[in-house]
Amino acid sequence: MESSIIQNIEFTNQRISKACIKSGRNPNDVKLLLASKTVSAENIKLAFLQGQTLIGENKVQELKEKYDALCEISHITHFIGHLQSNKIKEVLKYTQCIQSVDRIDLVQKLDQQLQLEGRQQEIMLQINTSAESSKFGANPSEAIAFAKVVSQYDTLKVTGLMTIGIFKAPEQEIRKCFKLLRNIQLEINALDLPNFNLKELSMGMSNDLEIAIEEGATIVRVGTAIFGTRIYPNSYYWNEKIITK
Ligand SMILES: *Cc1c(COP(=O)(O)O)cnc(C)c1O
Repeated sequence: MESSIIQNIEFTNQRISKACIKSGRNPNDVKLLLASKTVSAENIKLAFLQGQTLIGENKVQELKEKYDALCEISHITHFIGHLQSNKIKEVLKYTQCIQSVDRIDLVQKLDQQLQLEGRQQEIMLQINTSAESSKFGANPSEAIAFAKVVSQYDTLKVTGLMTIGIFKAPEQEIRKCFKLLRNIQLEINALDLPNFNLKELSMGMSNDLEIAIEEGATIVRVGTAIFGTRIYPNSYYWNEKIITK
């Protein structure tokens, strides 16, 4: 297990570098985020010892469970899961950025909590570029209007956009999702909204990171390719209807 995680990180970094070179980009401009849901703190630490510093978690429960063990080693945690309003306080406590902000009522409640705490928070907007109902994220056609609303909250500093590409689809379909996110980024940046500076495009996972990098990803979120297959299917994390607890 140990050696395979280390090898998998090396291999993933090679994939990132190759994709960057292919598209004329600097490999330093793409960050690897370890999607660490279901992964033990011990195995995450192995990755930290390999120089990794950025993880993404989907569940508050896991953030809490791993916190003590992981806080010994300096790192950054992003929240990439579906955020329920009643979990806001805890997610704010354990993460430095919330990538999955996808609706106005969540924005309002984040703002309320941040006002109480007297501070600001880095967030990204999640856009549902594949238009699959099973995935969370704001509708692409409403992204601009959504961004305009979010920009009115000074507690929220919006640094990027996040999406999950379509699964098991022809390459051009996957590419379309990433192109769409990039176009939305350009459109929003052109508006020069307050509290917005969209530098990050968080897109690309184990199966499609090369395509995402070719289309401008600055953060790729990789789980399976580094830590192996998970016991829960993706629907456990992505589809509210299937989440039972
Ligand atoms: C699990 C997860 C990933 C990583 O997916 P893999 O296919 O295992 O690389 C990326 N993004 C989000 C939001 C996830 O929940």
